[in-house]
Amino acid sequence: MVVVLKKNTDEARISELTEWLRSIGLEVSRNDGEFETVLCLIGDTSHVDMDIISSLDFVEHVTRITEPFKSVGRKLHPNDTVVEVNGYKIGGGNFQFIAGPCSVESAEQICSIAKDVKNAGAAMLRGGAFKPRTSPYSFQGMRAEGLELLKEAKKQTGMPIVSEIMDLSHIDLFRDVDVIQVGARNMQNFELLKELGHTDKPILLKRGLANTMQELLMSAEYIMAGGNGRIILCERGIRTFEPYTRNTMDISAIALLKEKTHLPVIADPSHAAGISKLVKPLSLAAVAAGADGLMTEVHNNPSHALCDGPQAISPSEFAGIVKKAEEIRKVLNTR
Ligand code: PEP
Ligand code: MN
Repeated sequence: MVVVLKKNTDEARISELTEWLRSIGLEVSRNDGEFETVLCLIGDTSHVDMDIISSLDFVEHVTRITEPFKSVGRKLHPNDTVVEVNGYKIGGGNFQFIAGPCSVESAEQICSIAKDVKNAGAAMLRGGAFKPRTSPYSFQGMRAEGLELLKEAKKQTGMPIVSEIMDLSHIDLFRDVDVIQVGARNMQNFELLKELGHTDKPILLKRGLANTMQELLMSAEYIMAGGNGRIILCERGIRTFEPYTRNTMDISAIALLKEKTHLPVIADPSHAAGISKLVKPLSLAAVAAGADGLMTEVHNNPSHALCDGPQAISPSEFAGIVKKAEEIRKVLNTR
């Protein structure tokens, strides 16, 4: 971290700041230039609050040189993390498909979709029970009952289940959920992240609608700081000025996140596109960019889905994506 001080700053104030920085364990190297004095901070600056230093009236500006995400960053942990869910591995060259409806709607619906996506090649079943809807008048999910139906689908198929948590107070209800999803809208719900850091459940952390890659990594850092390193990141599209799609799939995030972090990175083309016919090309693009998995919304009756019908694909369309994705993965593995 580099701290640039304003010209003619009082020596006493520079010493005071230097002493304080040393007292928190940093080495401080000072350079006096013609126009400004620069303090270079050496050591673990991840715990230093840049804003406190920036707010000092004699500080011109502060620049962070090293990345603030120490635990999830690749620098100190160069090897890929492999997250294992009931025997299914994600990351470190292991790829998995997670598929299922946006929302659990009935026992018949979730069990039938579970069987279809399993036959098509999905390892895990997704299904929202608590739904974050923009309108309070839209279907809000089956809540606790939805989680029970997911468990029934797991009993029938053996598939691990993935479902979104929206509130800390529901955490006990997720005891039998295999992967807890933190949705885009809760990516920066720090109290929730801290609590999930104290569990031993795999966490699927989705990127927020308008969050940077670094913010996503800092949210993962919250979970890991609590002691839970079983984190899967998910790129699900970000909000841009383009209205033709629901979001803009940030393909570069898949490739770049994998460089910055050792955590597995998967893609959700359904929420990125918002349009069912784009799910296949976006899935294949994500695989080609190096994603460790795909999470796709699949419905047995897309036009009657209670949530996100326009982006839902049929089980046979999903099967087509699995086939093509595997072909792409073969090509990538032979390079
Ligand atoms: C979902 O996966 O059902 C969902 C609500 O996704 P997101 O948080 O990415 O909008
Ligand atoms: Mn959805």
